[in-house]
This record gives sequence, C-alpha cells and structure tokens, in this order.
Amino acid sequence: MPKDFLKDAEDFYDVVVIGSGLAGLTSANILARAGHRVLLLEHHYQLGGMATWFKRKGGHIFDISLHGFPIGMIKSCRKYWTAEIADSIVQLKGIRFENPQFSLRTTFDREDFTRLLTQKFQVDLATVQRFFDTARSMNFYDDQSRTTRQLFDEFFPGRSDVVRLLMEPITYANGSTLDDPAITYGIVFSNFMSKGVYTFEGGTDKLVSQMKAEMEHNGVDLRIRCLVEKIELTRDRRAAAVVVNGRRIRCRAVVSNANLKATIFQLVGAEHLASDFVEEARAVRLNNSSCQVYMALKPGVGFDDCGDLLFHSEHSGFDAEALLSRQISSRTFSFYYPRTRPGSDRYLIVSSTNANYRDWAELSEDEYIASKADLIDSTLNCLEQYVPGVRDKLDHAEASTPRTFQHYTRHLHGASFGTKFEGLKVSKELPQQAPGLFHAGSVGIIMSGWLGAVNYGVIIANDVDKYLMQAPA
Ligand SMILES: Cc1cc2nc3c(=O)[nH]c(=O)nc-3n(C[C@H](O)[C@H](O)[C@H](O)COP(=O)(O)OP(=O)(O)OC[C@H]3O[C@@H](n4cnc5c(N)ncnc54)[C@H](O)[C@@H]3O)c2cc1C
Repeated sequence: MPKDFLKDAEDFYDVVVIGSGLAGLTSANILARAGHRVLLLEHHYQLGGMATWFKRKGGHIFDISLHGFPIGMIKSCRKYWTAEIADSIVQLKGIRFENPQFSLRTTFDREDFTRLLTQKFQVDLATVQRFFDTARSMNFYDDQSRTTRQLFDEFFPGRSDVVRLLMEPITYANGSTLDDPAITYGIVFSNFMSKGVYTFEGGTDKLVSQMKAEMEHNGVDLRIRCLVEKIELTRDRRAAAVVVNGRRIRCRAVVSNANLKATIFQLVGAEHLASDFVEEARAVRLNNSSCQVYMALKPGVGFDDCGDLLFHSEHSGFDAEALLSRQISSRTFSFYYPRTRPGSDRYLIVSSTNANYRDWAELSEDEYIASKADLIDSTLNCLEQYVPGVRDKLDHAEASTPRTFQHYTRHLHGASFGTKFEGLKVSKELPQQAPGLFHAGSVGIIMSGWLGAVNYGVIIANDVDKYLMQAPA
C-alpha cells in the first residue's frame, strides 16, 4: 500500500494553505496562532519552498537561497515567528564587486555607499543624498510609470559604472531590470541600504526546523508530499475545498503560495473566473529563473577570506540581458565559511547566474547533461582567480537550472522571483474575484525574496483573518 500522507487529516479546516514557501509558512503560522484550524499542504518532501537545502555524501549541506536579505527580517521574524529565529540573523559584511569597471569591497549600506559614490566614483554629495532620499521615499502608491532607467538617468546620466554598482546586486536579488518600475528598485534597494545584508546563522535547515516546531506548537496540521490538484469554488465563486492526493478537503478559505499563474490557470481554472480578470492574469509576465553551481571543498580544506558575496562580471557595462544569457559573463559567488554553520569545518561556494527558462527547456537530455557539465566547468575556471587550486580542493560539484526549480517548486518556467510588477495587483485582487481565495507568495518584484515573501504572508494572513471573522462559518 502506498503511504497515505493525509492519514488522520480532517475533512474540514478553516484555512488550507497550499505550499510551504516562506509566505505560506508565515501565513499558516499567524492564522493558527489566531486560533484558526489550518492545514498546510506541500508537494515536496521538505518544507521551505525555495528557502531550502540539500545534503550530499561526505556530510555537505547546501543552502539554495541563503545569500542575503535586508535587516527587516529580524523584526518580521521576532514578531511573526520566534525570538530564537530572529536572534540567529547576523550581518554579512564582505560584499565585493569585481568587473572591468571597478574592484571594491563594501558593507552595502547607505553610509558606505555614500563614501564610495563620493570618493571613488566622484559623484557630488548632494546628488548622492538626494538619490538615497528619493529611493527611500518611494512606496507602492507612487507613480508606477517611471522606470529604474529613468531614475538613474535623472541622477547619474552617462555613468554606467555607477548604475552597475547600484543595480547589479538588485538584479541578482530579484530579477528586476532597468525597464521595471523605479519603485520596485527604490523599495528593495532602500531595504538593503538601511543596514546592509543579513543571513541566517545555522543554515536553512535550522531555520525551517524551528519554524516547523513553532507551527506545530500553534496547531498547524503540516503535510508534505501532498500535491494540490484543484481549488474548488462554489457557484458564487467562494473558495470551498481543495483536491489533494485525490482527496477532497473542505475549507472556508484557501491561501495559495503556489505560483500566481499556476494558481489561477491550473488550480482554479480560467473558466471559473471573470473573463476580464483572466485576461489581466494572462498578461502577467513571469520573472526570470536562475542557474546555480554548488561546490563543496574537502572536509577541513578552506580558502582565504574572499568576502561573503562577490558580484563578478567580465561584461563591459551593466546589461540585464547579458546577465540572463547562457553565454555567461557574470556570476555571483556566495562564499560559505564554517561560521555559517557553527561547529562545522566546511567551506562551500555557490555560484548563481540569472537565466531564461527557454534556454534550458528545449535541450535534449544529452544536451542538458552536457550543458550542466559545461556550466560547472566554466564556473570552476572563473573561480580559480579567487580560490587558487579550487579543482584540487573540491569534493563535490553539481548544477541546478531553471528546470530544477520548476521541478521542485512547481513555479512555471522555474521563475525564481515570482512575477513582474503587474502580478501584485492580480494577486491582491484574487479575493475580490473569488471570496475566500487568497494568494501569498513571490509576486510583483517587491513581494519576493525572503523578506518580501514573509511580509506578504503577514499581510495576507491578516486579510484572511478578517475574512474568516466576517464570513458565515
Ligand atoms: C537560486 C535562488 C536564490 C535566491 N536567493 C535569495 C536570497 O539570497 N535572498 C532572498 O531574500 N531571496 C532569495 N531568493 C528568493 C527567495 O528564496 C524566494 O523569493 C522566496 O523564498 C519565495 O517564497 P514564496 O513564499 O514565494 O514561496 P516558494 O519558495 O516559491 O514556495 C512555494 C511552495 O509551494 C509549493 N507548491 C506549489 N504548488 C503546489 C501544489 N499544487 N501543491 C502543493 N504544494 C505546492 C512548492 O513546492 C513550494 O514549496 C532566491 C531564489 C532562488 C531560486
């Protein structure tokens, strides 16, 4: 008999959360804490969504998306998770840029960027301060037609080196480009600039196990290996049930943490929603995906201080298309030292590059394997300049691609950061179209990344709570 992963699950819950990404986990935790009966369904064998990890022979543990997030995570984790989780968040001070235009190290905060922009890049202080103040004051309700390109043209005309310093890390962090609304840049950039870049000491496995314990304490019914196939609406389009592993479970509200377009077109079905809303949802663009190379050195073998995050590029200037190209000219290296997991003796390196799904989707199996091998090889060649003799020190290397992300997280086209900006409106309007059906997850650029996902999970949990209080039981 196959194992029943829904054994002893109830037939009815107040809320069913589909997906255990950081937004789904946060929504589930808050709603359970408020006293609602919550069922969380995850198709993978592990919780966390993109905030996950994997183990390999020899005791190596790789984090998938633990490269860095803004300080706001400390406050959000303290308030909506636990003090223990918040207390493990520590700063990463070694951010590095190596490219044909400049070579520098920074703590990636306003003070240090002001120093760099005025002293190294010779921009006058008043312009720098005005730029920071403008970026900081941007919010969701501002003019959305101004692009990031226009913002930079206003403050730093003709300065591709300055644009690169300001934009390259944000493009890596959330896939945004110069043609996206300037507010997406302003909000995310300012979040980082307020106090720099942070990480979770102890690794994603520790974080997710602490989150799991907290959710169990609050009474969330957590189920892994449970693939939701369908969200059922009543005739008047209210969320009524989900079908999961072939079983129907009724509920008063659904929070989908699955990809926005997958939620609308695969789980609900366009035929159940108003046609103008469906058209708007169809027009939402997915964000890009990424490739990574995971490299572990032999136990106890290390490297000198390389910084924590290194934005490496061989491209002459900042170019978002070049960052996505399979002809890789730019990579972000994350260097993990034993202090990442206190008590460990392991040094690991993860190289990330943004990528287009289409460049990987149509490769034959042989081409795919060869392309992954080539990605590993070219990455090691590049890494040699920062970690001399890296091939001799290496114990394990493997690559992931947009296909990997699609497989594990079910994001259409392996989108690493949800959708482009227009997706946020569609996500927020879903409950007006189908009362009781909510979406919480990477969307609209500003609601992606660890902090964006957690905070969007909080916003949606509050909306669900209000809905449950008002809707008839
Ligand atoms: C390579 C990489 C590096 C990154 N690095 C960083 C970083 O350094 N800092 C940062 O802040 N952010 C980073 N991010 C982005 C960040 O990890 C994500 O934005 C965030 O974790 C997404 O959370 P989410 O709540 O949107 O859900 P996701 O993580 O997308 O999870 C959605 C979950 O829903 C599940 N699911 C989907 N469909 C179903 C279904 N039908 N039934 C059941 N379950 C389903 C999936 O299996 C998945 O677990 C990175 C992302 C990637 C890919």
